[in-house]
Amino acid sequence: MESSNPFEIVKQQIDRCAEILQLDPSVTAMLKSPQRELHVSIPVRMDDGTVRVFQGFRIQYNDARGITKGGIRFHPQETIDTVRALAAWMTWKCAMVDVPLGGAKGGVVCNPKTLSAGELERLSRGYVRSVFPFLGPDKDVPAPDVYTTPQIMAWMMDEYSVIAQKPQFGVITGKPVSIGGSLGRGDATARGGMFCIREAAKIIGIDLSKATVAVHGYGNAGYHAARLCREMFGSRVVAVCDSKGGVRCDAGIDTDAARKCKASTDTVCGTPGTERISAEALLEMDVDVLIPAAIEGVITAKNAGAVKARIVAELANGPTTPEADDILFKKGVHVIPDFLCNAGGVTVSYFEMVQNFYLYPWSEADVHERLDAKMTSAYHSVVNTSREYNITMRQAAYVKAVGRVVDAMKLRGWV
Ligand code: GLU
Repeated sequence: MESSNPFEIVKQQIDRCAEILQLDPSVTAMLKSPQRELHVSIPVRMDDGTVRVFQGFRIQYNDARGITKGGIRFHPQETIDTVRALAAWMTWKCAMVDVPLGGAKGGVVCNPKTLSAGELERLSRGYVRSVFPFLGPDKDVPAPDVYTTPQIMAWMMDEYSVIAQKPQFGVITGKPVSIGGSLGRGDATARGGMFCIREAAKIIGIDLSKATVAVHGYGNAGYHAARLCREMFGSRVVAVCDSKGGVRCDAGIDTDAARKCKASTDTVCGTPGTERISAEALLEMDVDVLIPAAIEGVITAKNAGAVKARIVAELANGPTTPEADDILFKKGVHVIPDFLCNAGGVTVSYFEMVQNFYLYPWSEADVHERLDAKMTSAYHSVVNTSREYNITMRQAAYVKAVGRVVDAMKLRGWV
């Protein structure tokens, strides 16, 4: 039976990688276990005067390569196992782009769409108070993720600084630029994915200026991906969707109009000049590039056979199950795996940390250039490894990234 538990999927992926790298069982055991987990209960005074208690987590998966790094999600379906899986993926992601960081993730079980701004601020500050001893610019540095924003990062940074009794801008990344954020962080996840798509198109022989693109998810990653496909390559974005449904337009969707529509009605459905489709149908459309940019587990054994895209660029974390991976590989689909494709976000977060440590902000052009260099080199290292061992792009990414984590654990004498 195909598992929908992301942490079970992480363990399956580690087993596959352990076989290829012939890892010792003690090494595999360490790779399959989060190093530290914190569960917290956060009381929040609601606008109506009552107190609601929210459950939260922070998981530091592995710090063999350095300070742990990873976002905080505010999601109604958050579970400890989703956070574990996402924390593991952060570990491989930082190793993939070879930044000197370990992996972590945080989550709060909540539906931010139903909270007022004041409630959201009190929840964000409450989360930081609860996990304060776990965090620090030289320990564990969170960032935005699903349903968390630069404003939330600003409140969290402020709360941490108030408790620490000194400005601690480096405790969190993805901050607004005027309070220590990095230029280029806003669209970094999508832009990093664009550099991978650009390189993949060269290898496969796709002319991106004539290519069609479908984007699944229209949050920060999805919107910027759709916009950048048009701006950087001149590609035609023929379908986009969000949690409420999707739209298509074969002549090309105006990605900013879709954004405006979503901002005013909470969905892209209704974007002028488009017709309605389901999110499921979008995944099976006959396009050159499919970009899953929402959540985990959307391409499964059930629909992978129907995917027609030549490139699947995974901007979401964990959108494809291992069974679906095998199907896509057999069909010859070029999958750019999540912790490679979406590593642009954490790469620029790392740049933000460096700028905060040095108190020296970089220009946007510098950020883009350094991001391009990191992503392009990581992408080609994965392609080369997949050819060398005749394995899927995902297995190759695991071999490269997990290999680096294993090296660090061995050098430090853990395993
Ligand atoms: N939440 C993003 C991710 O999953 C960024 C993490 C970060 O910048 O630390 O990669």
